[in-house]
Amino acid sequence: MKSIFEKILDAEIPAQKVYEDDICAVIRDINPQAPVHLLLFPRKRIESVDAIGPDDLKIVSHLMLTASKVAKMEGLGDGYRIVINNGPSAGQTIDHLHLHILGGKRLGWPPC
Ligand code: 5GP
Repeated sequence: MKSIFEKILDAEIPAQKVYEDDICAVIRDINPQAPVHLLLFPRKRIESVDAIGPDDLKIVSHLMLTASKVAKMEGLGDGYRIVINNGPSAGQTIDHLHLHILGGKRLGWPPC
């Protein structure tokens, strides 16, 4: 079964797309937890951090470079947070690797 992100990539469900290239895409979270809350995910379905394999390292590096690029595009020069929920106890609900990019306000720490 396709993940939500695969359905978004295939235009089967709508999303506010902020950025895309041949490796990844960035959309706005449907339930934002900050003024800016983006989801960055690879086109390739990697289920979680634990599922990243040696062949995926180029993709993962690209995600980090893209996070920085998109954060600048969104005006988050003052700072932003990248979150990856890995596994159900951490709150992962979509089994397709994704980075949350949060910003646009002063973010509290610790996060929980
Ligand atoms: P997770 O809980 O897996 O770390 O993050 C999943 C995120 O996806 C949540 O923040 C949730 O609000 C968001 N989300 C779930 N379904 C959709 C959807 O259909 N469209 C968009 N744009 N975001 C979604």
